[in-house]
Amino acid sequence: MAADRASVAVDRPRLLVATRSTHKLRELRELLGPLAAELVSLDGIALPGDAIEDGETFAANAAKKARFFAALSGLPTLADDSGLEIDALGGGPGVRTRRYAGEDATDEQNNVKLLAALAGLASERRGARYRCALALALPELSGPRDGMPVRLAHGTCEGRIATAPRGDGGFGYDPIFEPAVEPPGGRTLGEWSAEAKHRISHRGKAARRMHVILVGLGF
Ligand code: IMP
Repeated sequence: MAADRASVAVDRPRLLVATRSTHKLRELRELLGPLAAELVSLDGIALPGDAIEDGETFAANAAKKARFFAALSGLPTLADDSGLEIDALGGGPGVRTRRYAGEDATDEQNNVKLLAALAGLASERRGARYRCALALALPELSGPRDGMPVRLAHGTCEGRIATAPRGDGGFGYDPIFEPAVEPPGGRTLGEWSAEAKHRISHRGKAARRMHVILVGLGF
């Protein structure tokens, strides 16, 4: 019996979550469990390197990251690319959300720059949405000629940019993002619990769609 249990544990597939963001990793672990597969992180398996994120869409960048780390590790790999589209900025900063205030900008610097860019705009002109693309790269299914297959899942979360930061929950732009269900001046995602955020968030929606794909593939 003990030997059977040991062989079941050894057979458990591993799924690499390809992010160096501790916040994204925590949210994805909360959102994706439980799975048959064991979720491992880049730091958990000491995998160095960074994918070049020069795609024009969240999906393209998520696929690049997933393929890059799947090729390096040989493991099925899940990557998240996400960000904000602001109506008053013509849909920007989009895929440049993380670098909005500069290459190594902190969350606080990004928030300060965005609040300044929208200064004086009325609530109805502060519309915004988070987008998340999750890409699953499957190295063991690569053919001799075909690129590595990727499965994608998307999610969006509508809202508006607050006039000042509130709350210290979540991460990134959450202290200045009011979900659409809140009135103007209502609670930001930085003031919501993690469970409540997961129910409506871009990552929550994408992860629930990806969960169906993963279970279908035996993960
Ligand atoms: P990426 O690492 O290139 O995908 O950049 C994601 C950017 O969007 C970072 O600036 C994150 O802080 C921000 N972002 C993505 N998802 C969230 C979220 O759920 N809350 C707050 N900010 C987020």
